[in-house]
Amino acid sequence: MVPDPLITRFAPSPTGHLHRGHAFSAVMGWAAARETAGQWLLRIEDIDAERVRPGHVEAIHADLAWLGLVPDGPVVTQSERLPLYDAALDRLKADRLVYPCGCTRADIAMAASAPHAGETVAYPGTCRGRSDVDLSAPHAWRLDLAATGLAMEQTWLDLAAGPKAGRADFGGDPVLARKDGAIAYHLACVLDDAAQSVTLVVRGEDLAEATPLHRLLQQLLGLAEPAYLHHALLRDASGNRLAKRAGAATLAVLRAAGEDGAALRRSLLRQSAPLLARAGIPISDSVKI
Ligand code: GLU
Repeated sequence: MVPDPLITRFAPSPTGHLHRGHAFSAVMGWAAARETAGQWLLRIEDIDAERVRPGHVEAIHADLAWLGLVPDGPVVTQSERLPLYDAALDRLKADRLVYPCGCTRADIAMAASAPHAGETVAYPGTCRGRSDVDLSAPHAWRLDLAATGLAMEQTWLDLAAGPKAGRADFGGDPVLARKDGAIAYHLACVLDDAAQSVTLVVRGEDLAEATPLHRLLQQLLGLAEPAYLHHALLRDASGNRLAKRAGAATLAVLRAAGEDGAALRRSLLRQSAPLLARAGIPISDSVKI
């Protein structure tokens, strides 16, 4: 069922320039909001200070303006919301649902059984239940999934694909705060989706693996559970996924070359309309212009 009101968000990370794939996601959420008299919000996910590049936040705003996409309501910037994330982490610490972990990547890779190339190595729980982790040395905080008492098999309604299920423990106990103190994407994302009253998360299917964990965190923290629409990723003519490093495809380059942003928006909207229609949001001609 299409949520009413439909409040969705575009949540880019300013770690690289936006490309057509990002624009596809943005246009899809924007059109869904326009069609239903809902809201399309913008959230800058700049929590990973090490990877944020100067000028990219400004470029995101310029790209969206060029496409003709105007966010409804104030822009949320994650780096301005650290106290909110820290307060949630402190509650989990007080409830003993997170534990300190001093493992390095190499420790984890060695402890886990040989992964195939490119596979995520699931954290084997080395520091769970240990009382000798050196708190004066850099340490991460991991969620003790078993201690939450919540189901690892999580379900959600995907407007595009129907009822979906997946495991929240796909990577073992997840890091909620990194060794360098940065809050993990998973925690910040669910807190912000709730704070922005998001009722529909529109994002690429590459992020669907994280959704069972997001469901679990929403239940753990008593947050409202939005619906989801994970869309297939836009591919280039040879079927390859558009990557950030494919410089020629960035919106900044198209913009600088004098291309028409409104024309790109209309073309992406035509591409996303069949999926939106399947999701129960047929796009009318007045939104397509
Ligand atoms: N910031 C994430 C990204 O740019 C998107 C997160 C989300 O939509 O949940 O990949």
